[in-house]
Amino acid sequence: MIKLATRVTKVPPSITLDIAAKAKAMKVQGIDICSLSAGEPDFDTPQHIKEAAKMALDRGKTKYGPASGEPKLRAAIAKKLQNDNKLDYAPENVIVTNGGKHSLFNLMLALIEAGDEVIIPAPYWLSYPEMVKLAEGTPVIVNTTEANDYKITPEQLRQAITTKTKLFVLNSPSNPTGMVYTTSEIKALAEIIIEHDLWVVSDEIYEKILYDGTEQISIGSLGSEIFKRTIISNGFAKSYSMTGWRIGYLAGPKELIKATSIIQSHSTSNVCTFAQYGAISALEESQDCVQEMLQAFTQRRTVILDKIRAIPHLSCPTPMGAFYVFVDISQTGMNSLEFSDKLLESQQVAVIPGIAFGADNCIRLSYATDLTTIEKGIDRLSQFVNSL
Ligand SMILES: *Cc1c(COP(=O)(O)O)cnc(C)c1O
Repeated sequence: MIKLATRVTKVPPSITLDIAAKAKAMKVQGIDICSLSAGEPDFDTPQHIKEAAKMALDRGKTKYGPASGEPKLRAAIAKKLQNDNKLDYAPENVIVTNGGKHSLFNLMLALIEAGDEVIIPAPYWLSYPEMVKLAEGTPVIVNTTEANDYKITPEQLRQAITTKTKLFVLNSPSNPTGMVYTTSEIKALAEIIIEHDLWVVSDEIYEKILYDGTEQISIGSLGSEIFKRTIISNGFAKSYSMTGWRIGYLAGPKELIKATSIIQSHSTSNVCTFAQYGAISALEESQDCVQEMLQAFTQRRTVILDKIRAIPHLSCPTPMGAFYVFVDISQTGMNSLEFSDKLLESQQVAVIPGIAFGADNCIRLSYATDLTTIEKGIDRLSQFVNSL
């Protein structure tokens, strides 16, 4: 047996990637699978973004670049943060990373050490606690409830704070719940963060995927005191359907961004140079592609919600952002793994068990897939629940 580093033995592999792989393998075998497990948009990357990357290849953008990112991309991101999010960042406040996941990992390595506590509201995106553990910090999980739309309350945040608390993780719109915090809710959390002199990382990867006129507010835009304590994590994967490109970014105080760039310079170096030119085009050219994808998500959301709400024993809040529905299955008496396994076996529908997100009474359904799959999948889910 190999004596592995303790670091890695404390961390389980990603359940979402596991199930998606299992469903894909069944599909390859010719089994008629309905997968509602996707964690990525089903659209191809918009053509003009692909063209920009191809042109960059032809222009010889094939060499090492600065570890923190192409200057032109850092400038475009800084401008985007000013315009879209009312955040006053210069290019030096921005580092380009290998995706939003890498942004958060770099941040944990730069900010967190043994003894530090990081407050994470559950249901959470599954990598947050594991990243904290890999950085030798302690994740402090705060369970939210459906009754409160799966949002952490100011009282809950206050109660979770100790002298060791260093960072609070905010994800709005949320994966897996689709919830979006209102301005007043974010303001109330910001006041506590300032009062206790904590850091907050705001994962805004779903900021463009919003429904029914919902607005996304960046916590850092609420005043200079909270701005100083905010780090923004974002990327191109979800807004521009660029999951495989691996481009994300962090923005925050220069000293902190510099620290993450030191880590990056000794680990991954720069993000794929020509891919960064695709990202520049994503920011600088027409945003119509974002709206087109949003229109498709909006239509699918209506269909999936109507169908789920017709099934007895299931309940879910209305997602206001992202492309997931988080469904409470506790009335079936099963836990989330049992429910997901049996559903896959008996009806060939793939969903993600809530335990992956710290909520064993729920499952996550993704509507980042075509309407036919959604309709067929939810019909089968209905048959499954009715057969129990
Ligand atoms: C998808 C996702 C990310 C990051 O994705 P990348 O592909 O690494 O850019 C970060 N946070 C949440 C909540 C996500 O769902």
